[in-house]
Amino acid sequence: MASGVRNGGGGGGGVGAGRMSGKLDRQSVTVTPKSTGKPRPSAGSGGAYRRASSGSLPAAGGGRASSESGVSSRVRVAVRLRPRNADELAADADFGDSVELQPELKRLKLRKNNWESETYEFDEVLTEFSSQKRVYEVVAKPVVESVLEGYNGTVMAYGQTGTGKTFTLGRLGEEDTAARGIMVRAMEDILADITPETDTVSLSYLQLYMEMIQDLLDPVNDNIAIVEDPRTGDVSLPGATVVEIRDQKSFVDILRVGEAHRVAANTKLNTESSRSHALLMVNVRRTVKGRHEMDASISGENGHSSSIVGSLRPPIVRKSKLVVVDLAGSERIDKSGSEGHTLEEAKSINLSLSALGKCINALAENSPHVPVRDSKLTRLLKDSFGGTARTSLVVTIGPSPRHRGETTSTIMFGQRAMKVENMVKLKEEFDYKSLCRRLDIELDKLIAENERQKKYFDDEVERITAETQCRVTEAERECKIALESEKAKYHQEYLDSIKILEEKWKIHQQSPKKQIKETGSSPNEVGEVQNLLQNEKILRQSAEYEANDLKNQVLHWKKMEAVVTAEVVKLRKMLDTEASQKEKLEEEIAVLKSQLLQLSLDADETRRSLDRGDGSGKIFPGFDSLMSHTRNSEPREQSNGPKPPIAKLFEQVGLQKILSLLESEEPDVRVHAVKVVANLAAEEANQEKIVEAGGLTSLLMLLRSSEDETIRRVAAGAIANLAMNETNQDLIMAQGGVALLSMTASDAEDPQTLRMVAGAIANLCGNDKLQIRLRGEGGIKALLGMVKCGHPDVLAQVARGIANFAKCESRAVTQRNKVGKSLLIDDGALPWIVKNANNEAAPIRRHIELALCHLAQHEVNSKDIISEGALWELVRISRDCSREDIRMLAYRTLTSSPTLQSEMRRLRIEY
Ligand code: ADP
Ligand code: MG
Repeated sequence: MASGVRNGGGGGGGVGAGRMSGKLDRQSVTVTPKSTGKPRPSAGSGGAYRRASSGSLPAAGGGRASSESGVSSRVRVAVRLRPRNADELAADADFGDSVELQPELKRLKLRKNNWESETYEFDEVLTEFSSQKRVYEVVAKPVVESVLEGYNGTVMAYGQTGTGKTFTLGRLGEEDTAARGIMVRAMEDILADITPETDTVSLSYLQLYMEMIQDLLDPVNDNIAIVEDPRTGDVSLPGATVVEIRDQKSFVDILRVGEAHRVAANTKLNTESSRSHALLMVNVRRTVKGRHEMDASISGENGHSSSIVGSLRPPIVRKSKLVVVDLAGSERIDKSGSEGHTLEEAKSINLSLSALGKCINALAENSPHVPVRDSKLTRLLKDSFGGTARTSLVVTIGPSPRHRGETTSTIMFGQRAMKVENMVKLKEEFDYKSLCRRLDIELDKLIAENERQKKYFDDEVERITAETQCRVTEAERECKIALESEKAKYHQEYLDSIKILEEKWKIHQQSPKKQIKETGSSPNEVGEVQNLLQNEKILRQSAEYEANDLKNQVLHWKKMEAVVTAEVVKLRKMLDTEASQKEKLEEEIAVLKSQLLQLSLDADETRRSLDRGDGSGKIFPGFDSLMSHTRNSEPREQSNGPKPPIAKLFEQVGLQKILSLLESEEPDVRVHAVKVVANLAAEEANQEKIVEAGGLTSLLMLLRSSEDETIRRVAAGAIANLAMNETNQDLIMAQGGVALLSMTASDAEDPQTLRMVAGAIANLCGNDKLQIRLRGEGGIKALLGMVKCGHPDVLAQVARGIANFAKCESRAVTQRNKVGKSLLIDDGALPWIVKNANNEAAPIRRHIELALCHLAQHEVNSKDIISEGALWELVRISRDCSREDIRMLAYRTLTSSPTLQSEMRRLRIEY
């Protein structure tokens, strides 16, 4: 008798059914919750990789997932039955098949024997008659559509060798197009959907065998490393060949090449393809349209520079990945190594597949630990099961009752996989590089436009000035001529009339009587003279009027000149405004570039840490390099190789510009700028340039004035790095650096700030010439004040500072440059030294042990050493210290000091 219906997915029967079945099967489009034999376990708690909760889920590729949190989506599982082959037709003719399919009910009955069977429910049941087209539409198409929308997707085939995994996924169908498998059809759909101008499709094709990843596109490359992004946890294979795909033909060619290499590689390794896993990884990169064009139209209209940075948002790119996995055969292989493999090799061959089974069991059972790291396959498929991808699995089975055992285990694998819940997430990010390119073009355009306008204004000003000058000169000249000629004319007339009058007067004088007699008109002549005089007067007046008129004209032209001059001033002002806008724009570009620089620094550091493989997940890696640099002053490899992007950007932005951003009004910009300066200061090659450009003064200024502890912390770190150099140590002291560092320490809340400050002071402590000043300005007190926080990193820096100081002091005493007790003892360092001389952290202990030996070498300190109990510590060091050089130093110190010797005798310490 058949028992109840089994269903791995439980209540999720309706989930995405419409998508899963595509357009072909109306019956399965209907969303019908099915009664199930076993309730689905509720997800949500436990498992590190399980973040989903069950419940209603959107159809595959349907509603937009929030890119932040993701949307729950169960792994979809279809079962496919291979038709009987010739052997089976001959050999099993008398037997029925081991399974019976009920595709319309999405059920499969597994015969146990003639009278008993077990029923299982799947998302899709594909009979021996199902076409390749239908299999693609049901199993892979929803995943492909999802990938095109920006989500990761996985299609995987699982089953015994010979049941049709490669047939389902990898058939090229060149002789019969209806036989095309999932890989070929998926690429057809992808290429039909993308826009070649803005989107790219690339792929890698790999084989995994005996925990070695081989490149099927470059078989020499046969042990590719998996690299994990420490921040996102995403895995990638940077060593694999990546080929860009532009058309279907080149894709099929590549599959063929890959297949040929697979056969060749397996022959070389003495195995069959059925023992290895094949993985096709297709990367789809799409630019999201819409926002770019909109922004361009906003900024293009008035072309005002100040609006550019605000309105040009970075374009968005979606980078999704389709992984198609043709797994190794699931049958148990002979552990005895009958295929020519040793037992160890046999274990290794099976490792990935059994690890995959364990992970799926753990995810299906909501186990708190999923052993993802147990094999390379599970690491590569981390996102496919319990991750953010949309995953579809096809389990393939054969009909023969001879393989009932393998068929049963395949079905059980599919059932468990149906319980795995993923959280699909949109793979979307900002494309800062293309924004920067766009801004550069925009800036060039603006500069050109600005220069064109400036030239136009200059020409215009020159033309108007010349024209005005000309007119004024002309008017003045005309005026002068007219005035002169009028003057001459009236002068002449005046002279003429005077002459006439004189003559008349003469005649009149000579013979007045005769004349009177002759003319008989003496009184008339007088009247004539009077008339002439009158005329003279009128003429003079009109000449004066005319002269005034000309003067007015000159005045008018002068006024005109003033108006033109005002116009020129106005144009100049406009030019100034343009210039200042240009400057602002350049500043904004510099800010963006510095942000980009910061991003590149982060990326660089991440890359480096990946190269180192430390996976430490640093939050601000450049910052950490400040201290690592102190420990390791070897020049980095980078400085010899080709110029890294940081240095290139640094040159582009310019040190002065970056330093000027330290005083920016924008707090964000200040933080970025100080981080960039700190990163640069970590490179010895940059230190001198930074100090020369006034960077040290600016950093000290930030300690004095910044309200933001992050800025003070990063600035202190940068100063610590600069303080490794003697010249810089003098400069820091001269600019009141010790007081500023002490102030920063007393305001700090974050132990990392204290670590930076202590590191800086510790470096200063190692300078012989600065001892007295450093102590006088409270350097030692500041160091001792920081031990309150108790953080081991801070204590290590304090201990280093004290050791440096003690060593310098000891040198000074030896060279007779110093007499009297140690300044460290005067400042009360001894109790802390005694308390921490046996600190469990090795770096702290070592520094303190050294400091103690240095102090004890001088008789003046002996009394305090005895009274504070440091003698016991010295004895301990001389006996137990693991470092032989320190042990010997302590021993020599004890045996050469008369005071300590006599105290030891008094205390009966055997030596
Ligand atoms: P696997 O990759 O699981 O080892 P293959 O895909 O190589 O299996 O299939 C084994 C044989 O069965 C091949 O000859 C293949 O052509 C044939 N075969 C598999 N599935 C089907 C099917 N659905 N219809 C017809 N022939 C099939
Ligand atoms: Mg195969």
